[in-house]
Amino acid sequence: MSSDGHADGDGGIAVENVDIYYDDIQAIWDVSLEVRESDNVVSLVGPNGAGKTTILKAMSGLLDVRDGRITVFGDDIESFAPSDIVEKGFIHIPEDRELFPHMTVRENLEMGAYPKQAREVRHETMREVFELFPILEEKEQEEATNLSGGQQQMLAIGRGLMSKPRILALDEPSTGLAPQITEDVFEVVEDLGERGITVFLIEQHVHHALHLADRAYVIEQGSIVAEGTGEELLESDHIQDAYL
Ligand code: ATP
Repeated sequence: MSSDGHADGDGGIAVENVDIYYDDIQAIWDVSLEVRESDNVVSLVGPNGAGKTTILKAMSGLLDVRDGRITVFGDDIESFAPSDIVEKGFIHIPEDRELFPHMTVRENLEMGAYPKQAREVRHETMREVFELFPILEEKEQEEATNLSGGQQQMLAIGRGLMSKPRILALDEPSTGLAPQITEDVFEVVEDLGERGITVFLIEQHVHHALHLADRAYVIEQGSIVAEGTGEELLESDHIQDAYL
């Protein structure tokens, strides 16, 4: 075990030649990608319906893969429950945030600290979350439903942080947010990366997501069509023509 209580075994998360189906319909075709802990931000971008959420759900153990494999910190997750993957240090904040609307901000945060190693340090982690998002401390006794969209996104990220992730995935965190609030969310993503939490960012805001990314992938119609550093992809003809 490492000093933070997680099992050792680097390699982050590797998706290797994965095919995923919904019943008989293939949604993902031979996709490979890597999220290494040495990266600050890894982005997966692509249009609506390209398969971004499907891949993320498979990485979280919420969907089975038909071919290929996914390893999380060195272990094949085929027989893992989603909670095992959280325990290992990979947490996924879904696009709809899935907050508990009638629980307070503090209660929502506490719900995030369910892995054993996170429970033990939850008071300290909550202090860090409040330092990152002072508004959550101001509103700690408010019900989540009374927060603005941007504050709810901060709470969803804060709740994810309470589980002490090594890698935190954000599925379109800018959905439904005003442009200025979206900027704030991207600043948080950058900050988390710099604090040593690798962020796997799924986004339709291609420019932002590539700008922040050490490594990035472009998915279209269920297949990866380009990969490279964020900078390389920003300069590529395909990205320039199709997205910017
Ligand atoms: P968005 O930006 O709209 O969330 P996405 O890139 O995340 O798009 P997915 O939601 O992964 O894309 O969808 C990939 C493909 O799988 C789409 O063709 C979609 O219609 C299909 N799909 C997604 N969820 C299901 C489901 N539960 N049952 C059947 N097909 C699905």
